[in-house]
Amino acid sequence: MKKVLTFFLISLVLFSATIFAAKDEILIGLSMCELQLERWQKDRDIFVNTAEKFGAKVIVQSSNNDDLLQISQVENMITQGVDVLVIIAHDGNIMGSVVKEAHANGVPVIAYDRLLMDCDLDYFITFDPIKIGEYQAKYLVERKPKGNYFLLGGSPTDNNAHLVRQGQMNVLQPYIDRGDIKIVGDQWAKNWSAQEAMNIIENALTATKNQIDAIVASNDSTAGGAIEALKEQGLAGKVLVSGQDADLVACQRIVEGTQTVTVYKPIKDIATQAAIMAVSIAKDVHIITNGKADNGFKEVPTFYLEPIPVDINNIVDTVIKDGFHSLEEVYKNVP
Ligand code: BGC
Repeated sequence: MKKVLTFFLISLVLFSATIFAAKDEILIGLSMCELQLERWQKDRDIFVNTAEKFGAKVIVQSSNNDDLLQISQVENMITQGVDVLVIIAHDGNIMGSVVKEAHANGVPVIAYDRLLMDCDLDYFITFDPIKIGEYQAKYLVERKPKGNYFLLGGSPTDNNAHLVRQGQMNVLQPYIDRGDIKIVGDQWAKNWSAQEAMNIIENALTATKNQIDAIVASNDSTAGGAIEALKEQGLAGKVLVSGQDADLVACQRIVEGTQTVTVYKPIKDIATQAAIMAVSIAKDVHIITNGKADNGFKEVPTFYLEPIPVDINNIVDTVIKDGFHSLEEVYKNVP
């Protein structure tokens, strides 16, 4: 929290500096992996509004999880003369290749939420995915320290999915080693797809004869798919399920009792700070970060924001208090 506050203060100073540094209108390219998921729509809206408030113009393009399309969209943004690129990669390994081209054209690159691998990336802004995985698993083991656990990973092409898993295993491993927790399945849902997650859990329930106590789902879309499969067996609410993003439907499931926990990542903070970062870089204002992330090529200066585990007990004091969702929306289906 202190770190975030410090960053806000620093941003304020940087922003004042940018106001007085007269320069032509700044053009920012925001390249997005996709726009179906609720969170990415929020990211886009807040990022664009903030950048525009600071006098910048933003070109937004979504690649619908298509790597080649995302590359060509970024190349096009470079041709259009963007001053800075902000990239939410579908596949961070593939998108790393555009950084060279951006730099050859004098365009700095910020990776947003997902790291770009093996490249000379300028900055990274994210919520620590390892911490997110730890929060998910910790929440579940505190409620069921013994039992059959199913690991439901995110998209195998997303570096975050692997880091989230690393965090989950940091917590689960001692329980597995002691024999208290048995892993009864471990699968990854391509593109974090709810449909794929549902199929995976349907099959897992059949294979284990419904003997699953907890599903370590890595985000809310996969949690949603898992819960649909549990519903078919009358098990929704009996099996613990984690998530991530505090999507509206996930928050509704939490108050209804079918999803156990989500991890809330205040999108307002990351999108606002990333926009301020982008404007500041374009104006050559020094950027302050609070950590580093190893992308295989270098230690990338990184700004980490704090995620917050959310369950039925603190949903009002977090997600709702922040205005992320309204009380009415969240409790819509609760009589
Ligand atoms: C993000 C999550 C999101 C997932 C699916 C991850 O990289 O960190 O917030 O749920 O992608 O889009």
